[in-house]
Amino acid sequence: MSNVQGEIIAASASNPNMQSYENWAGNFNWEDVEKQFSWYDTGKVNMAYEAIDRHAANGRGDKVALHYSDAERDESYTYDDMRRKTNQFANVLRKHGIQKGDRVFIFMPRTPELYFSFMGVLKVGAVVGPLFEAFMETAVKDRLEDSGAVAIVTTSTLLQRVKREELPQLKHVIVVGNDVQTGDGLIDFHAEMADAVEEADIEWLEREDGLIMHYTSGSTGKPKGVYHVQNAMIQQAYSGKIVLDLKEDDIYWCTGDPGWVTGTAYGIFSPWLNGVTNVVRGGRFSPQDWYGTIEKYKVTVWYSAPTAFRMLMSAGNDVIANFDLSSLRHVLSVGEPLNPEVVRWGMKAYNHRIHDTWWMTETGAHMICNYPAMPIKPGSMGRPVPGIEAAILDDRGNVLPPYRMGNLAIRTPWPAMMRKVWNNPAKYEEYFRFSGWYISGDSAYMDEEGYFWFQGRVDDVINTSGERVGPFDVESKLVEHPAVAEAGVIGKPDPIRGEIIKAFISLREGYTPSDELKAEIAQFVKQGLSAHSAPREIEFKDKLPKTRSGKIMRRVLKAWELSLPTGDLSTIED
Ligand code: ATP
Ligand code: MG
Repeated sequence: MSNVQGEIIAASASNPNMQSYENWAGNFNWEDVEKQFSWYDTGKVNMAYEAIDRHAANGRGDKVALHYSDAERDESYTYDDMRRKTNQFANVLRKHGIQKGDRVFIFMPRTPELYFSFMGVLKVGAVVGPLFEAFMETAVKDRLEDSGAVAIVTTSTLLQRVKREELPQLKHVIVVGNDVQTGDGLIDFHAEMADAVEEADIEWLEREDGLIMHYTSGSTGKPKGVYHVQNAMIQQAYSGKIVLDLKEDDIYWCTGDPGWVTGTAYGIFSPWLNGVTNVVRGGRFSPQDWYGTIEKYKVTVWYSAPTAFRMLMSAGNDVIANFDLSSLRHVLSVGEPLNPEVVRWGMKAYNHRIHDTWWMTETGAHMICNYPAMPIKPGSMGRPVPGIEAAILDDRGNVLPPYRMGNLAIRTPWPAMMRKVWNNPAKYEEYFRFSGWYISGDSAYMDEEGYFWFQGRVDDVINTSGERVGPFDVESKLVEHPAVAEAGVIGKPDPIRGEIIKAFISLREGYTPSDELKAEIAQFVKQGLSAHSAPREIEFKDKLPKTRSGKIMRRVLKAWELSLPTGDLSTIED
């Protein structure tokens, strides 16, 4: 198990006003959080109202809600602009008969139009289904078919990937582009927005009415439609305060695409529920563009992912010197385990703690996190946020003592918990197979101070010569080696040892693959971690297979290794 236990980075001194973890945990109850919402009394709710209109009506109308830029565009919209744009889009949808409960999908790159449409869908009480722009025909079709979507908003470029003739229930295709051909269910976004009035009634909903459907990123298999309800906002708003540490004047940048849950829960809902200024950068990753974005908008709170931090780390610290990053106050990470080496580098490169946060599409909001008031133990996901109880269970549902590796589980229920897996009640039930618990599918252990340590997906845990080894520990040790940019570790079946550890490694620039380097890297893990954790096989790859949200797809590595079918690849990067 992890050998980084002893290392602690103290809580941020720059956040003296944060209540200590113990205070939060001791006095917490969800009802106090609910009372902060106007709908606590009325019972009627709509996410779009709480995230946009409420601010426009309460003195934040002229405050910037959205800063958007890419290589061609540079635009800003106030909360009142957003209110009017989303009203217009709601009116477009109503004109075509779209109403409460309908599923409306959004399939386009990050642009302001995505955000207008997204919130406009919610205003009419429909359920929004985001699709990552890079999905190909089959991926799009599978999701539209499974969800029974009646409408999709897309761009003229992506339109050809929407196979309308094979989707009888898909009645409307709203196209963002120039000179859009209309008729036969095709609708010109810009033309109809221009004709739509800027006032609209909001569809008032119940807390248990639908909000969003996410088809998960598919790291482990076929994507499933995870369905969330309006009630999730309680937790998305509150975690914005205690985990993202959002305050009135913050300029917040979440780098996640809304095709994934981070890009909606924490790229849209949480910042806007908290009324802060939200930054969206279109286009692809580059260190220059990213640091330039922080400098340009004076970003204060930055939420990104391990893969991005690893790439920034590989890009070196010289590039950092060219930018003014002094606006940053709080930096967070999600999506994959955050290697301790990256946390250490963050301290040196940015002089900031990178706060790891663990949660899943299914949980709807943060579960186990490091937040400003807590000391960080690099390599640990942190502790359950107030209101959340987590434990490690064995395979029969018994709670395990500290330091025993097992199933990471969350006590049910919590406000943002998924309410169903669309069309798949059996899959839903699986998560709740032990009464009173949600079983995450991740493997972890807890230390005696209640910090949780991620080991890997349950299916990825390696059994070698009777020892259980989490791939994450090995990968984290590997990326400490100066030659290693990224590493994916799998168990390869072996007649004697059960499994052996095999590492796939992409090298940093300037390093060439060689057998000597393999031996040196294996030795490095042996000395730094343990003999049984050292990879017996190493293979160098130019790139590791990743989901489009940046997660290493270990099941694909394993399938390659064993010459097995790779399964659903709809979410893999180019
Ligand atoms: P699928 O469920 O379709 O296979 P996925 O699990 O990658 O895809 P998400 O819901 O986006 O889809 O990701 C949640 C998973 O990502 C977690 O179960 C965990 O394995 C991993 N993860 C997220 N955040 C962290 C983190 N901070 N540390 C370690 N792992 C993380
Ligand atoms: Mg998952």
